Amino acid sequence: MSRRVYADNAATTAVSPQVLEAMLPFYTDIYGNPSSLYGLGQEAKAKLEEARETVAQCLGAKPQEIFFTSCGSESDNWAIKGCARAQLKKHGKNHIITSAFEHHAVLHTCQALEKEGFTVTYLPVHKDGLVRPQEVEAAITDKTALVTIMYANNEIGTIQPIPEIGKICRDHGVPFHTDAVQAIGNVPINVKEQDIDLLSLSGHKLHAPKGVGALYVRLGVQLQNLMDGGAQERGKRAGTENLAQIAGLAAAMKEACSTIEERVARLTPMRDKLIDGLLKIERSRLNGDREHRLPGNVHFCFQGVEGESLLLMLDMQGISASSGSACTSGSLDPSHVLLAIGLPHGVAHGSLRLSFGDYNTMEDIDYLLEVIPPIIERLRAMSPLWDSIKTGKVNYDPYM
Ligand SMILES: *Cc1c(COP(=O)(O)O)cnc(C)c1O
Repeated sequence: MSRRVYADNAATTAVSPQVLEAMLPFYTDIYGNPSSLYGLGQEAKAKLEEARETVAQCLGAKPQEIFFTSCGSESDNWAIKGCARAQLKKHGKNHIITSAFEHHAVLHTCQALEKEGFTVTYLPVHKDGLVRPQEVEAAITDKTALVTIMYANNEIGTIQPIPEIGKICRDHGVPFHTDAVQAIGNVPINVKEQDIDLLSLSGHKLHAPKGVGALYVRLGVQLQNLMDGGAQERGKRAGTENLAQIAGLAAAMKEACSTIEERVARLTPMRDKLIDGLLKIERSRLNGDREHRLPGNVHFCFQGVEGESLLLMLDMQGISASSGSACTSGSLDPSHVLLAIGLPHGVAHGSLRLSFGDYNTMEDIDYLLEVIPPIIERLRAMSPLWDSIKTGKVNYDPYM
């Protein structure tokens, strides 16, 4: 094995040395409970509020609008259930608008609310992997309690027109939530300028540890509690604060948000070189719009190739990559994201996501371009279908 390339940063990232360093004092020195009144507790409380201030600044929010959670999934659950239930109780509104290619933390939460009696509109996603703002507007009714559309898709990396959707929702007086887990550090976000009412983020996608996240809730937006108990997080999210991880999240957010331009400038040429190289493989396709795309996301389908076999062969060459999302790659079901952009099952099975972050280099890209094409060729040589695909007898891909 000549090289190790971690190309699955959309699934999770390594904790950075600075983040780890920011966390360590809270395990052994500043371990007081922020709710305790003596000095050690109050010191912890001050650090907690400092972290809240940092996260707020990164988003253009006020510190009182930031709530720490246990992960991105919790933030999504809380935003959607908390807001929808409050809207139903206060205004009798029972309709939610989302898109068909959200993360499961959003989709399954919406499905859970359908069982409670809410109706949900799942907007179609076009073949470029983008939601159309005018379709959001057309779906809004006087019963709409919430619109939830992700900032950037975790599989195909497309960046949605969030400011436009935010403006539409604000004009109609409908609360707007966005799952920004993949967008943080890659897209400049300002919740005030972009008319965002609720925003979810997660630590482990930006070099903080797994198991910490945050939810931004604009002042004035009603939200029911998901966790009841103590008075932590202004009485809205019980549980003794995980201060070490919160401090890690704040350090990671500060780093991610203050270096967006450099990150985009560094990753974009890497991404584009890989895309151009992989497009040279016959019957390959790039999924998702090329321009409105995360700087570190490359997502392909190769006709006649099974995603699972491809991943195993890449792993043998030291490459960690993903087929679809980490949550679904254990199953043989094709990705709901690829089905949502109109790919038939046969193509959706042969997908490959390569996602890059701060620790990847151009040498990684060169290695991938050296290793992937011959692997595709070998897998196709073993495929009983490839001959028919190549000669055009079978065409799985309606866009080819
Ligand atoms: C990873 C991810 C989540 C879930 O975050 P966790 O912290 O793992 O719960 C939610 N949404 C998107 C878009 C993600 O990529």
